[in-house]
Amino acid sequence: MGGEALLLFWGGMMSIRERYLQIRGEIPDYVKIVLAAKMKTNEEIREAISVGADIIGENYVQEAEKMYAAVGEKARKIGWHMIGSLQTNKINKALKTFDCIQTVDSAELAEAINKRAERIKKRISVFIEINIGSEITKSGIKPEYETIEKLAKRISKLDYLRLEGLMTMGPREGEPEKVRPYFRKIKEYFDKLKSVGIPNIDLKYLSMGMSNSYRIAIEEGANIVRLGAAIFGERSCDLKT
Ligand SMILES: *Cc1c(COP(=O)(O)O)cnc(C)c1O
Repeated sequence: MGGEALLLFWGGMMSIRERYLQIRGEIPDYVKIVLAAKMKTNEEIREAISVGADIIGENYVQEAEKMYAAVGEKARKIGWHMIGSLQTNKINKALKTFDCIQTVDSAELAEAINKRAERIKKRISVFIEINIGSEITKSGIKPEYETIEKLAKRISKLDYLRLEGLMTMGPREGEPEKVRPYFRKIKEYFDKLKSVGIPNIDLKYLSMGMSNSYRIAIEEGANIVRLGAAIFGERSCDLKT
């Protein structure tokens, strides 16, 4: 059994509470953990929140609405991030629950969100999703600097959107070490985009790394990691996109 497999095995014997606290203690304080909540029960999410989890990531708008209601009082005090692809006809609903949409991957989507956000006068944080080395998802823009900068500039002109980060899935299966070059590349884009000084954007978050790759992602500059299996204790292989 390799180190990774051993950790997963050992992790399987711990509770959500223990796993969350262990990872929280292990990674630097500046790194935010987004709980990838897909297919998790209200109980599981509440357990993680009770020990300090403060950002929930949802792939589906409807599940997020339900989870938000189930969390109750505390829901307003924690962050809600959309981490799945957002369909135009779900934007109005998404705006009610989420304070950040990590998956903006086109100017059309950005403009559609802005138009609806303007109607309800709600400013929302967005990240640009970049598709790098990922076979499992078609979402995300091409991993080319010019394309990213162009979209960033478009978003910067939209009054109700605040561009605050870049997000990537990266390859999910196989040796975690193999994702390192992809993460490094995204960090390069991130630094370059920051250095351009586009007005009205506030690029500060780099969301990359999942259960099998978060340590590497942090080493490569991530300050948001999105964790499901590492906290909830099983590997979800049936990601729908
Ligand atoms: C499911 C999911 C994650 C977490 O994946 P794990 O391997 O369970 O940690 C992260 N990001 C996105 C977008 C996801 O859909």
